[in-house]
Amino acid sequence: MQEWIGSCRSCGKTIYCENGFLNGTVQEDQTLECFECQEPADEEGES
Ligand SMILES: [Zn+2]
Repeated sequence: MQEWIGSCRSCGKTIYCENGFLNGTVQEDQTLECFECQEPADEEGES
C-alpha cells in the first residue's frame, strides 16, 4: 500500500509512504526531500 505524501523539494520526485516507510524525509520546515537528494553528492568515501 502506498500513500502519496508530496514531492521532493529539490528534484520534484514523488515522496510516498509505503507500508509505513517514507521514501524520503520531512524537513524541519515541513518540506520533503527524497533520500537521493539528501545524500551528499560526493564520491563514495570511507566514513
Ligand atoms: Zn529529490
